[in-house]
Amino acid sequence: MARPRAIIVGGGFAGAFTARYLHKYARGAVDIELFNTENYFVFQPLLPEVASGTISAPDAVTPLRYMLPGVRIRMAEVTHLDRSTRTVHFLQGSRRTPQCVAYDHLIVAVGQKTDLTRSPGFQEHGLCMRSLADAHQLRNKIIRRLEHADVTTDNALKRQLLTIVVAGGGFSGVETIGEIAEMIQRTLKFYPNIQADEIRCVLIQRDKGILPELPQSLGDYAAAKLRKRNVEILCGRSITSATASAVYLDDGSRIRTSMFVTTVGNRPHDFTQRLGIELVKGKIPVDRHLKVRGSGNIWALGDAALVPLSDADNDSGAFAPPTAQHAVREAQCVARNIVNSLGDKELLQFSYKAQGSLASIGNYKGVAEIRGVKLSGLLAWILWRAIYIGMLPGFATRLRVALNWFFDYFLPRSIVQIANRVDTATQYRRYAKGDIVSEAGQFVDGLYTVISGRLESRISNAAEGEDFVRILGPGDYWGERSLSEDMKTAGTLIATEDTRVMVLPANDFRNLCEAFPALANYFESKSGKTHAPPLRRH
Ligand SMILES: Cc1cc2nc3c(=O)[nH]c(=O)nc-3n(C[C@H](O)[C@H](O)[C@H](O)COP(=O)(O)OP(=O)(O)OC[C@H]3O[C@@H](n4cnc5c(N)ncnc54)[C@H](O)[C@@H]3O)c2cc1C
Repeated sequence: MARPRAIIVGGGFAGAFTARYLHKYARGAVDIELFNTENYFVFQPLLPEVASGTISAPDAVTPLRYMLPGVRIRMAEVTHLDRSTRTVHFLQGSRRTPQCVAYDHLIVAVGQKTDLTRSPGFQEHGLCMRSLADAHQLRNKIIRRLEHADVTTDNALKRQLLTIVVAGGGFSGVETIGEIAEMIQRTLKFYPNIQADEIRCVLIQRDKGILPELPQSLGDYAAAKLRKRNVEILCGRSITSATASAVYLDDGSRIRTSMFVTTVGNRPHDFTQRLGIELVKGKIPVDRHLKVRGSGNIWALGDAALVPLSDADNDSGAFAPPTAQHAVREAQCVARNIVNSLGDKELLQFSYKAQGSLASIGNYKGVAEIRGVKLSGLLAWILWRAIYIGMLPGFATRLRVALNWFFDYFLPRSIVQIANRVDTATQYRRYAKGDIVSEAGQFVDGLYTVISGRLESRISNAAEGEDFVRILGPGDYWGERSLSEDMKTAGTLIATEDTRVMVLPANDFRNLCEAFPALANYFESKSGKTHAPPLRRH
């Protein structure tokens, strides 16, 4: 008999640890497949250290294939679910080929996104601190600003370049501003034209104090230490909008800056929104066994789920906070319950009391509360590092992170800026005669225009037993209808000569059409008509 298949969507704390525990508890009785948009696991608490260059980006993550032996890993984006056929649908590979796979148990562990849509200018100028790419981008931007500030003769611009604003006084915001302040302080000796008092690091917190998850005395301690290092902390304030050169606060004041990081406001991933489940507080409501009510075998956990800690209803009950500690315990509970449900055993109820909280505030200082004991300063910082090194998955990652910390203590911080040099979004691609450019049934990734050469688009027509052929030459283009109507391509496109095409990526094409109605109208007027030579029966 075929083994039941468990599909896990998401390879963060919740998904990766569910896979790990399920592999352990099921002992080969379940086929486990994990989908993640990247092929690595990110230990998010280390991201501020990646942003500050303490740890290099590839050393802070663990490849899922190393971490989860015995689990099938698929680097793909899951798009939606068909509950009637119990299949998940996903796009995989560089051609984003749509595929689907059946499940017996589905585990949704996709986390959440930072919501940049709530305030004007956040989408355009707000940096996030959630993924490895975010941390890497922030580090590059800081170094770029320092390089620019060191050479500019415009004092107002210099002040703007040297002002960094972080929104959110929770763990991620405090750790981010603390790390940035330390990084700048340690690298200033390489920038002779920048004085320490020209640097302005500002933390904006809506609440009365920072680190509200910790006892107030620790929040106050962290605030005092940060202020001593010239970090400005504005409590009871929030950012209402941002532009390319400033952020605006709710008291009407303005801070001139060209770098603003936001760690506040979450929203569900597109996949979560397409599940067909009514979300509560932007999350998937689950019962105490972490099962989605009335959904068959769908489980949800981690930041994506609203996990009750009591039997009270969704309005009055307490819920698990969105932390890595809880995600890992929830993963253990889901894995146990899947194994129990296969053996018709009783399901476990999730319950967990956090052991404590820790935060590093940079400069060898930390704050912690472990089982009611409060710690601060160097001891808390050492404890933070000791606990996190123990939590990192895999010996290789632990060793790499430990070596990064060791070298960071003795060596200067790297100020190498490796930015992606993207002068233009358009790409050129070359195809040799006989190459398949795209296959029928795929989503196109952009607007394609033929520069030179010749292509043939073949559309099979089973009903009439004939193929239709369209020839495309220089100046012809395709992809605009598939992009605007989000539909799959009908024909297979083959190069019949050596061919060069220009590709305008899908999002850029959509943005252009949105910004230039004339362009959108042009494509609309052509739709249904033809922009390429007509179809011929073949
Ligand atoms: C800067 C920072 C510091 C933090 N510090 C702490 C701390 O000190 N202590 C603590 O306990 N917690 C901390 N947290 C919170 C903790 O990291 C999160 O609660 C935890 O990562 C949530 O795990 P998750 O698996 O639910 O989500 P995530 O870790 O976000 O993982 C979700 C995964 O799903 C993938 N995914 C999403 N959509 C799809 C899709 N459609 N198809 C395929 N894959 C998909 C994503 O790429 C991602 O890999 C911190 C968070 C941040 C951002």
